[in-house]
Amino acid sequence: MASIFTKIIKGEIPSYKVAENDQFYAFLDINPNAKGHTLVVPKKEENKIFDLSEEEYSALMNFSYRVAKALEKAIPCERIGMSVVGLEVPHVHVHLIPINSMADMQFMKKEELSSEEFVSLAAQISANFK
Ligand code: 5GP
Repeated sequence: MASIFTKIIKGEIPSYKVAENDQFYAFLDINPNAKGHTLVVPKKEENKIFDLSEEEYSALMNFSYRVAKALEKAIPCERIGMSVVGLEVPHVHVHLIPINSMADMQFMKKEELSSEEFVSLAAQISANFK
């Protein structure tokens, strides 16, 4: 069965898209640790990150780098934190999180955002993606 992220990539479930190419899709996390919390997902469905080939892993990191650069420009923050977990959704994804404290990396403190705020954040990040 297709993962929830595959359904998002195919447009069967809506998302706040930040960036996309033929291999990857980046969109805002629906339950963000902080404003701008973004997930970068390979379109090819794989469960665990270290089951990717070295080439796929490198390509994922390169794409995540470009998304992180856009996040740094769009979202005022101390730095961009990066994390890979995958316990909730078994489809490889990199969390890129604009952080100001360790609490922002702990997946406990959550930000409540309106759909207008999600739309605006996604547009700001997307505008800075190169
Ligand atoms: P993990 O699998 O790394 O533990 O966490 C999965 C992440 O995906 C969580 O931060 C969760 O909020 C996010 N997530 C789960 N379902 C959806 C969804 O349908 N849409 C979006 N945008 N994010 C989701």
